[in-house]
Amino acid sequence: QEKINRLRNEHRISVIGKNVPKPIKSFEDLKTFYNVPEDLVKNLAECNYSTPTPIQMQAIPIMLEKRPLLACAPTGSGKTAAFLLPMINHLKGPEKRGFRAIILNPTRELAKQTYRECVRLSEGRGFRIHIISKVDQALEKYGPKSSQKFDILITTPKRLLCLLNHEPPAVSLQNVEWLVIDEADKLFEAGPRSFRSQLKQISTACTSENLRIAMFSATNTFIVNKWCKRHLKGLVRVTIGLKNA
Ligand code: ADP
Ligand code: ADP
Ligand code: MG
Repeated sequence: QEKINRLRNEHRISVIGKNVPKPIKSFEDLKTFYNVPEDLVKNLAECNYSTPTPIQMQAIPIMLEKRPLLACAPTGSGKTAAFLLPMINHLKGPEKRGFRAIILNPTRELAKQTYRECVRLSEGRGFRIHIISKVDQALEKYGPKSSQKFDILITTPKRLLCLLNHEPPAVSLQNVEWLVIDEADKLFEAGPRSFRSQLKQISTACTSENLRIAMFSATNTFIVNKWCKRHLKGLVRVTIGLKNA
């Protein structure tokens, strides 16, 4: 335990929660401690990620253990891979059960960046990853017949709701196991009330017992903390940049 505290302090990782898994020191640890297959570790290397950033050290093990997470780390600190890697490991490969992971981003541009990183980190797995660009096209694509073919959806909340509210609903979220909210501070900030209700609609549509929610944010904001504490049982909070208490 003392060793773990020292490691966290050294990387300015602070955690709040019960039984928080210890940080990984290297991507090799993923194989040793979590049986993450070689190909995913190789994909990290292909991205020239040689050592995990502090948020990756701590957030990846938490998500691998399927714990709900609120992660705060500065912009540019590698949050995208921190949630994509465990998500990809968890989904394993394509299945014809419809979307099993949803990633919400505040803007289309950010969604595109997330999409590109998801493609790189899941290289060789054969996932069908989708980004909602035009809602009309999405209606055709995900329509009742074909939506089962997709595994991962990366989008903005507005677009997703547009599909959900379509009559009949143009997308089913009943098999979603990971709902990742990226840039949560921005999403809540842009319209606290509207985002709360959007999030409620989205999480209500995710009816699977296996649903897990992870939030990533650049700043530690009261409103995001409050939402997570109220809605996520067994929550782990991680903040990078502070000394651990
Ligand atoms: P954030 O979402 O925290 O703002 P990003 O996930 O966009 O950060 O990552 C910022 C940059 O760091 C990206 O160019 C990404 O490719 C790179 N990066 C992420 N993880 C690592 C790593 N472990 N080693 C080196 N570079 C990394
Ligand atoms: P986002 O929040 O997804 O970035 P914006 O409000 O920036 O969306 O809109 C970008 C463009 O995408 C708009 O000009 C609009 O035509 C289209 N768009 C966004 N949301 C929808 C929607 N729900 N239905 C149809 N088109 C949309
Ligand atoms: Mg980011």
